[in-house]
Amino acid sequence: MTQTDTSKDVIKYVVFDFDGTLANTMDAILDIATNEVGEISDEDYEAMRHEGIKGVIKRFNIPLWELPKVIAQFSSVLTKREDIKLYPHIIELMDKLTANSFKLGVLSSNSEENIKKVLDRHSILEKFDFIYSQSSLFGKDKVMKRMCKKHNILPSEIIYVGDEDRDINACKKVNIKCIAVTYGFNSRERLAKLEPDFIADSTMEIADIVLSLNK
Ligand SMILES: [Mg+2]
Repeated sequence: MTQTDTSKDVIKYVVFDFDGTLANTMDAILDIATNEVGEISDEDYEAMRHEGIKGVIKRFNIPLWELPKVIAQFSSVLTKREDIKLYPHIIELMDKLTANSFKLGVLSSNSEENIKKVLDRHSILEKFDFIYSQSSLFGKDKVMKRMCKKHNILPSEIIYVGDEDRDINACKKVNIKCIAVTYGFNSRERLAKLEPDFIADSTMEIADIVLSLNK
């Protein structure tokens, strides 16, 4: 007799990272970086996508003690920008997910004010059940745990969508399923190495993956 697995997880929430996943902040970040350290070459850009945030810190010799200052600088300039765009088809993606009864959330280290402003400008803020914002450069797993506690959600009820190595690592630590998107800050190769549950090369692929869950 074969045993049937009755403990199959039902995914109820799709929680998104913000920068590099919902919002294309890369262009603005490159702009700011160009002002700070000079022109970023294509080679530097590709290396950054390949090396992740720790590689960027090394490449530009940012001392760790200066990191909070650099991040604060970037976010204060980013806050003032009115031209942050969402990636293509994000609005359709949100429509599709909510039409299929998934609840939506954002978990990001960007400020709640920034996130709300961008989502509101694109008229999709009301689609989200919650925005959970907390600074977490190397501790996103802890933030994920706090988010689950605050909103009374089990890790097994979530699929997280993120664009960086640290998103995948955090999800693995707290047993949250993860979709890695390859159009954001990290290269496909870098993400694939960490073996996320799923890889999506476009926003509409995210929809296909999520809609195939719970079947
Ligand atoms: Mg990101």
